[in-house]
Amino acid sequence: MLYHNVPMDKHCSFRTGGIAQNFFVPQALNDLSKFLKNNQKPILMLGLGSNLLIRDQGFDGVVIQLKHFSKIDIDESIVHADSGVTLAKLSRFCESKNLHGAEFLSAIPGTVGGALKMNAGAFGSEIWQFVESVTTINASGLIHERNKTEFEITYRQVLSKNKNEYFISASFIFNQDKKQQDIKALLKKRNDSQPIGKANCGSVFKNPKDNFAARLIENSGLKGFCIGDACVSDKHANFIINQGKASAGDIEKLIIHIQLAVKTKFNIDLKTEVTIV
Ligand SMILES: Cc1cc2nc3c(=O)[nH]c(=O)nc-3n(C[C@H](O)[C@H](O)[C@H](O)COP(=O)(O)OP(=O)(O)OC[C@H]3O[C@@H](n4cnc5c(N)ncnc54)[C@H](O)[C@@H]3O)c2cc1C
Repeated sequence: MLYHNVPMDKHCSFRTGGIAQNFFVPQALNDLSKFLKNNQKPILMLGLGSNLLIRDQGFDGVVIQLKHFSKIDIDESIVHADSGVTLAKLSRFCESKNLHGAEFLSAIPGTVGGALKMNAGAFGSEIWQFVESVTTINASGLIHERNKTEFEITYRQVLSKNKNEYFISASFIFNQDKKQQDIKALLKKRNDSQPIGKANCGSVFKNPKDNFAARLIENSGLKGFCIGDACVSDKHANFIINQGKASAGDIEKLIIHIQLAVKTKFNIDLKTEVTIV
């Protein structure tokens, strides 16, 4: 289904952002492939929008949401999940099959596709540790099976050696040994340390080597500092909260303000984790 002029605030966990000129929600892979073959516009893949800040000017291209790509199954202990499967669902599925290692994913509010792009991680684990192979589609609608060696996998960033490819599914190998982490305990830890229930995108900045972005921001005296309705969280200084009416511009101004303050005080460049479009 192709929609036009879709406000992105409804699709991003920051609850702000401009309008997508085109918004495509394919029903199935052949639908997506056919669409891409005829498409000339810039593409933005969308999961749950939990790591996206779309500028107020909007996106003059096509946003593609894979929410109907939601199949998950298991074959000889290899888990196959489509890109639209939520991480919480993947984590629960693994638990139900007595596979372990996916517990950390329950604490990350994204989809498999977004997590593969971001190399999402928490509590000492990252999603690509468990990837066996992925299926991609390129901007011309061609489908490929890819293995790990075809990607440059780093902290919160994954680059494909093949240009303009997007994830449509992945196969994972999780552990069959004893469970090490308890989902409920991990979620409690999250709730205790993060501003749950407020519009945000998780950690805004990547942790610099041997340091923590939250500590640097807090020690720059910025906890609670606001530009418009965009505020540094009192609970976790690496989170920016939209108190209600923050524009994407307010959030970006606050990001720049934080970067300048940390650079001035500690001579450290904070790099954004959030994807700004
Ligand atoms: C409260 C909160 C807590 C969070 N905690 C964590 C955490 O502990 N660890 C962590 O790593 N992250 C965390 N995040 C950030 C975010 O949840 C993750 O980065 C998540 O993996 C993003 O998934 P998504 O589906 O929402 O992706 P989106 O935000 O929709 O997209 C993120 C990026 O991935 C791209 N993308 C999306 N789908 C595809 C696809 N199919 N193919 C190719 N590219 C694609 C997008 O274009 C964009 O560049 C948190 C966010 C929030 C709001």
